[in-house]
Amino acid sequence: MQVAVLGAGSMGHGIAQVSAMAGHDVVLRDIEDDLVAEGIDGIRQNLAEGVERDKVTDAEMEATLDRISGTTELGDAVSDADLVVEAVPEDMDLKQNIFQDVEASAPDDALIASNTSSLSVTEMASVLEHPDRTVGLHFFNPPHIMDLVEIVVAEQTNDETEARAIEYVEGIEKEAVVVRDSAGFATSRLGLALGLEAIRMVEQGIASPADIDAAMRKGYGYPMGPIELGDHVGLDVRLHIAEYLREELGERFKPPQALHRKVRAGNLGKKSGEGFYVWEDGEKVGMSGHWGDDDE
Ligand code: NAD
Repeated sequence: MQVAVLGAGSMGHGIAQVSAMAGHDVVLRDIEDDLVAEGIDGIRQNLAEGVERDKVTDAEMEATLDRISGTTELGDAVSDADLVVEAVPEDMDLKQNIFQDVEASAPDDALIASNTSSLSVTEMASVLEHPDRTVGLHFFNPPHIMDLVEIVVAEQTNDETEARAIEYVEGIEKEAVVVRDSAGFATSRLGLALGLEAIRMVEQGIASPADIDAAMRKGYGYPMGPIELGDHVGLDVRLHIAEYLREELGERFKPPQALHRKVRAGNLGKKSGEGFYVWEDGEKVGMSGHWGDDDE
């Protein structure tokens, strides 16, 4: 297949990489030459690390890089594409504009996909003349490591588009889960439900963050507990998603006061050095003293 990836940032370059590794020809598009070059450099680095760890051979690395080209011209990227995946910033107007530009330049039968992590794919597709070929392909960060892609089926998506999306995801050796377009899809919705309940349990003094995390790790086999995961993702990001899910899905996603207070204090988790845990150089070194005495 010919795949066009729009946006060479954190997600776009990874999507380009996994597509090329599976044998597709890829054009990576960003708005400036140096952004395109940075994206391709990122791919080269990922592949070089793969070679060091014996996950990728030198020949596979060369063949993958040979299948990827870069451009700043949208027309060059999409005019022969079978699949276009946009991975531009999370902004509905921007994504809708890009969808319209893509429809004007891409072949009539090209799939038009979005890597949005939270926006409505149905709303994005609503600006197209042929919205039935739209689908969400929600990759996880970093795409070359994470094995899941949520296939988000918009109201307008037809069966053929869904089937082609599944075929593409299986072809790049990722696990495909199909979800209807709805707030939080499957992953954020379930992840947030657990994460918010865990914070409420801390507020109610039921257990410490460390014990709640250990319970889920040791008892349920989770690779990381829900409170620690929140510190990794960023508590501001979690709060923002919770507010959106509350608006869309109801009060069960109401953010706990303890989460508001952390964010107001600038304690955003790993990136700020303190959240529910204390962090130094990206490592957990202790627990924050500001938990356990909150009531909603
Ligand atoms: P990013 O900011 O790292 O990259 C976005 C890139 O898009 C930038 O390089 C920017 O220059 C480029 N861009 C802007 N306008 C463009 C245009 N018109 N055409 C082509 N490129 C353009 O963002 P990101 O983290 O890669 O996120 C991209 C999308 O992926 C968002 O919708 C985000 O919600 C989603 N997503 C992100 C993550 C994550 O963990 N970062 C995970 C899953 C999904």
